[in-house]
Amino acid sequence: MEVRLGSTLLRLMVGDITQQDTEAIVNAANSSLMGGGGVDGAIHRAGGPQILEECKQIVARIGSLPTGQAVMTTGGKLKARFVIHTVGPVWSGGNRGEDELLRNAYYNSLSLAGDKGIRSISFPSISTGAYRFPMERAALIALTTVRDFIREHHFFEEVRFVLFREDDYRVYREAWEKISGETN
Ligand code: ADP
Repeated sequence: MEVRLGSTLLRLMVGDITQQDTEAIVNAANSSLMGGGGVDGAIHRAGGPQILEECKQIVARIGSLPTGQAVMTTGGKLKARFVIHTVGPVWSGGNRGEDELLRNAYYNSLSLAGDKGIRSISFPSISTGAYRFPMERAALIALTTVRDFIREHHFFEEVRFVLFREDDYRVYREAWEKISGETN
């Protein structure tokens, strides 16, 4: 699915984020930045050791990465030149600021990309794997945050959501239909 929001193309698709040709891809990392399972493991495997090297340098400088914040490294061997690492919240029932923290993860990733002059970026569905954030609720937050950011800033040619499973794609599409039915 593709929609045009001003000068930005918003695209939802099924796929593997490690294969995307946008300038940057976003990693659903954990605070240690030392790699892990899911999308994090896949990105480090596909991108090679240089990504971890730079993550180690970042941790040496700033310590572990707080939830909701974002940092950038090279893309190593990936098609994408850069990886933006952000940390989504672990779901623990919904009353511990999870929604706001998830919003921050998307917002700060977009903001960092904008600061670095990046014009195209791919996101996975942050927090909905090992961190167990409910998919529909996460999709609404992800899409609302991205839509509002695109409306306020005009630097992206394309923002892509790369959903790993067909079911997740369907949830994101339905969430998009829901929010685009709201008053604009
Ligand atoms: P988190 O710890 O933030 O929950 P995970 O990596 O466990 O992160 O899961 C986040 C989402 O990424 C899940 O919905 C999972 O299906 C998806 N995912 C896993 N591997 C990939 C991949 N290679 N490309 C895109 N999405 C992926």
